Amino acid sequence: MTKIGLEIHCQLTKLESKLFCSCKANYREFQPNTNICPVCMGIPGSLPLLNKSAVEKATLIAMALDCNTPSKIAFFRKNYFYPDLPKNFQITQLNAYGNTSIGWEGKISVGDAKIRIRRIQLEEDPGRIIYEGATEKTKLTLVDYNRAGTPLVEIVTEPDFETPHQVREFLNILSDLLENLNVSDPGLEGAMRADANVSIEGGSKVEIKNIGSFHDLEKAVHFEITRQQSLAEREIEIVQETRHWDDGRKITVSARTKEEEAEYRYHLEADIPWIRINDDTKNQLQVHMPESISSKKERYVSKYGITPQVADILSSDRYFSELFENAKNETNAKDVANMITTDIMGLLDTREKRDSSKLNAEHLSALIESIKSSKITRTSAKLALDEIIKNGKPLQQIIDSLDLGHVSDEGELTDVITQILKEEAKAVEDAKQNSEIVNFLVGKVMQKTQGKADPELTLTLLKKSLDIG
Ligand SMILES: [Zn+2]
Repeated sequence: MTKIGLEIHCQLTKLESKLFCSCKANYREFQPNTNICPVCMGIPGSLPLLNKSAVEKATLIAMALDCNTPSKIAFFRKNYFYPDLPKNFQITQLNAYGNTSIGWEGKISVGDAKIRIRRIQLEEDPGRIIYEGATEKTKLTLVDYNRAGTPLVEIVTEPDFETPHQVREFLNILSDLLENLNVSDPGLEGAMRADANVSIEGGSKVEIKNIGSFHDLEKAVHFEITRQQSLAEREIEIVQETRHWDDGRKITVSARTKEEEAEYRYHLEADIPWIRINDDTKNQLQVHMPESISSKKERYVSKYGITPQVADILSSDRYFSELFENAKNETNAKDVANMITTDIMGLLDTREKRDSSKLNAEHLSALIESIKSSKITRTSAKLALDEIIKNGKPLQQIIDSLDLGHVSDEGELTDVITQILKEEAKAVEDAKQNSEIVNFLVGKVMQKTQGKADPELTLTLLKKSLDIG
């Protein structure tokens, strides 16, 4: 049987400062090596000061993943030399003296399968190494320490996955969950990274590192299973090793270096005291935990009569579910939900588009209201939506400036219809035989009025002109 386990690194991107100093957690907006201080650079004599919010946010993750949480946490030094690690050790957690990491023995459901979480630990992210060109041939390596010391949560699963597809599904669920908890923004580049270990029946465990995206992770796991099966068929031994994912060639390659856990010479970080997390703190965190995705979905279906499919899409996306919550009221919830999933999600399908969008909840409820009261048609509403997203002006102003108001004036519509009947002589003849053709003519009227004609009135007037029932 194939066994796959994951180690997921997730940055706590919603924090103000790094894990042990007051440099900014949002390192992305800085010029290289400007978001640094003696603490995160490991200058001798500097002392770490633990970020309380980081402990709270990490504990929220542990609770949401059904983990046990400790009464006190401890930090350890993981010693290794690498240019991205200015201290020559990483401050992390280890369950060496009882369970003192942020959480352990949790679980998460993926379809019918339960994936067990072995451990969750809080640690600091190293700096970033940038190679010029291909890793093996590069003559120039740059290092940026802005990221060094930013808060990271490592989530380690048991080897409970059996297929690459299950891995992908799990990562999607986890990433929605983290976003919903408001602890991380998995869409940010590098905010969520995962390593995998893969073994097939009778073979050793192989670790795959360096995987850039979830999409590639699925591919890497798939490649690795195939590689191992091919070795097994030819009776070649599968050695325990670490392999790197080669993004260009889409294959895994032996990393040739092998660090055993023992080589890290873990020892207690004596500069940080053991921190007690009492039951009061845990209860407070539990009380203020954001509503889970599954409970949101249930509420959308039972309270507002939204279809399970729409509720599923809406509840699993924090941005759109917030928009929904703020725009809905007792009477419009279903329409708001439908407009978000059928129109708005398509218009705001990338992070950049969402960030620059000027659409707010008031716009959305006003739009629904205007459609309901026949002030504008659905077609005009779509045009208005495009405009709102671009400039954020109030709906009425947009209706006026684009002249999107409904054409429900009989005289005005009759003029348009007369013109269409002239232009579409053949369809007019056909319509007398086949009443379905009338819909084609309604479409023509809508086209002519840029979607502003009242569809029902148009149909009535057309039928009258054609003298059909
Ligand atoms: Zn710092």
